[in-house]
Amino acid sequence: MDIHEHQAKDILKRLNVPVPGGGIAFAPEQAMHEARKLGLPVVVKAQVHAGGRGAAGGVKLCKTEAEVNAFALSLLGRNLVTKQTDATGKPVHRLLVEQATDIGQELYLGLVLDRKSERIMIVASREGGVEIEDLAEEQPDALVRMVIDPATGLVPFQSRELAFKLGLSGTQVAQFGTVMQGCYRAFRDLDATMVEINPLVITGAGDLIALDAKMSFDTNALFRRPEVAALRDPGQEDPREDAAAEHGLSYVGLDGDIGCIINGAGLAMATMDMIQLAGGEPANFLDIGGGASPERVVAAFRTVLTDPKVSVVLVNIFAGINRCDWVAAGVVQAYRELDLSLPVVVRLSGTNVEAGRRIIEDSGLPLISAETLADAASTAVNARPRMAA
Ligand code: GDP
Ligand code: MN
Repeated sequence: MDIHEHQAKDILKRLNVPVPGGGIAFAPEQAMHEARKLGLPVVVKAQVHAGGRGAAGGVKLCKTEAEVNAFALSLLGRNLVTKQTDATGKPVHRLLVEQATDIGQELYLGLVLDRKSERIMIVASREGGVEIEDLAEEQPDALVRMVIDPATGLVPFQSRELAFKLGLSGTQVAQFGTVMQGCYRAFRDLDATMVEINPLVITGAGDLIALDAKMSFDTNALFRRPEVAALRDPGQEDPREDAAAEHGLSYVGLDGDIGCIINGAGLAMATMDMIQLAGGEPANFLDIGGGASPERVVAAFRTVLTDPKVSVVLVNIFAGINRCDWVAAGVVQAYRELDLSLPVVVRLSGTNVEAGRRIIEDSGLPLISAETLADAASTAVNARPRMAA
């Protein structure tokens, strides 16, 4: 689960990490009020669950109240499209109004879960401000990495070593230690999966300050972190993913036109690969889970068909815990209840497969059967109605 920049900064501030003074605004009047309280100039920043806002026009240095008003008016209620969002973007419902910072230098600091070492890994660089993925590709040598041993936690000498590698000196070294300790505690104590400060700024006066902050949390740990769970903003999430979760389905919307209903995350990933290999694009990832009832299959169809791009549905089941006859009954029920007319390709394999195929055949519906995974993918790609030229 992601949270907003202002929420991440609140957490860091409580852990002694220096952040600019600021306030949140849901309306232009409120943004002007915050600007007046802080004193101009201020930086106004769109709060969305995505980075790359600066380059997308979601961050602005404002010198007058009129500028704050105009910028707030232009952003609020609109969607912001950045390099990190899809083509629809994320809705802007709140703004962070902050004291402007005099930037001397921009550094990068990130903490992530490194699966290989099974440790929290610190990634830092003197080249901050740009996206870490671009940096890793263009200047891999500019990144410094360090893992934290869970037995000792973050030890002060690690922070000092990192500070020196970043070229910090004097009081900056101690300040960096405080920043590191705050980030580490946020990560460990709140079950985060990512804590990123980009940029961590050295001000004109030579002090460190977190100019941006991003955090993600482990959804499986939210039950024991009610204070984190309370920071959730459903407005930033895909409503279809929520609706799907209520039926025990994992759904992720994608850009293609082949709707997918599959059991098991691994098979779902493999099927998406096979669709691409056959020259198509999946419209979604959807895992119906184990022991899926006909009702859950119908719910899966409903979810997939909320996407108007879908021109064909591919059902691919390798039943172990699942039962092909239940899934088949669900497909037939969905076809009738939802009054479908688009092509539906069904590939069944595993438990009760004979009974499942019989249900499909006896239904008299124009369902297209496929034998193998590769066959199912290419059949779905070819079953798409031809686009008008
Ligand atoms: P992001 O693009 O979504 O990562 O948003 P950031 O919060 O990182 O802001 C983008 C860029 O705006 C930063 O890298 C800075 O260069 C610039 N910026 C943000 N706040 C300030 C500020 O207070 N003063 C100045 N001079 N630049 C700022
Ligand atoms: Mn940033």
